Amino acid sequence: MLATPRREVNVSVPLRRDDGRTVLFHGFRVQHNVSRGPGKGGLRYHPSVDRDEVRALAMWMTWKCAIVDLPYGGAKGGVSIDPDAHSAGELERVTRRYTSEIMPVIGPGRDIMAPDMGTDEQTMAWVMDTYSVNHGYTIPAVVTGKPIAVGGSLGRTTATSAGVVHVTRAALDEAKVPLSDVTVAIQGYGKVGAHAATLFAAQGARVVAVSDAFGGVHDPDGLDVRSLSEHVAATGSVVGFERSDPIDNPALLALDVDVLVPAAVEGVLDGESARQVRARWVVEGANGPTTAEGDGILAANGVIVVPDVLANAGGVVVSYFEWVQANQAYWWTETEIGEKLEHRMLQAYDEVASLSRRQGLTLRDAALVIGVQRVAEAHEIRGLYP
Ligand code: GLU
Repeated sequence: MLATPRREVNVSVPLRRDDGRTVLFHGFRVQHNVSRGPGKGGLRYHPSVDRDEVRALAMWMTWKCAIVDLPYGGAKGGVSIDPDAHSAGELERVTRRYTSEIMPVIGPGRDIMAPDMGTDEQTMAWVMDTYSVNHGYTIPAVVTGKPIAVGGSLGRTTATSAGVVHVTRAALDEAKVPLSDVTVAIQGYGKVGAHAATLFAAQGARVVAVSDAFGGVHDPDGLDVRSLSEHVAATGSVVGFERSDPIDNPALLALDVDVLVPAAVEGVLDGESARQVRARWVVEGANGPTTAEGDGILAANGVIVVPDVLANAGGVVVSYFEWVQANQAYWWTETEIGEKLEHRMLQAYDEVASLSRRQGLTLRDAALVIGVQRVAEAHEIRGLYP
């Protein structure tokens, strides 16, 4: 049962473009498992989105939510659209049509969306509005990652990156290496990578390289991350940042750094690139950045991999806090959220690391054992209907 999604919805998403032409996209919502609670997971807009990718991402959400012990199952949605090729008006129409097509299977107690690649808090506001207008009243808990003005949570924007930094610190602690002594390379300068760069630097780590879809920049003495984020805000890319050398993505993955954070797309650390990795720790900010073959090579080479389902769970943890706050209509301070996030991430890290030590497992295998066990236990206790 756990190998197969519980429910999949495929929808057609027609869009009337600004020039009057009509085009059609494919949309999906996959609920992999809902035994521990409502489905939870992001909505991805990317031209390569297909049903299999959404299935995989939904299954990862099931384990991720169980590993950080949230009362959720796992789900994911996607639309096969390139968000960069469309106006805001077009994206709004696509979002509203997609939402209305999957309306019967989502809801605050059924399945709760959040941003993922290619979507953001504005997308979530459109989903929330479409759902609410159709129900006749405002239902903020149907999505997380919303703008603060409509019930979003403080700390949600930086949550995934903050979680990445917390588990990195925990992994370094085991080797008695302080964060202020390490060099970090980050592949991907999107919602996860950009904030991670800032937070790593704020804790004294030296961020020596970052990259995005257009290229990368490298400075062995450490990049000035504040000026870098100003450069990206002005130009749309890290490329061309002053006081740095250009570096391409394969070279970044092979840099001689302490910590490598893949924070972009799936499958970048494959059989070939994993062999080149010289970092001692790989902390997976992205979902699925390492292929099965790449994972075996990293393990054989003694690289410690903090797996995606643990490392990037900070996003869904604060999504959960946002949902709890919406349900109780009472909001917590940013400090409270930061403390609760850190506590949950460190607790999950400790559970995974201690199982890994006890049973001689990699952190990924230990995390999956815990995740699968928790979901299987819920299945067993609930029993098979009918
Ligand atoms: N898209 C994020 C992830 O892959 C967040 C999901 C959520 O908050 O529901 O974990």
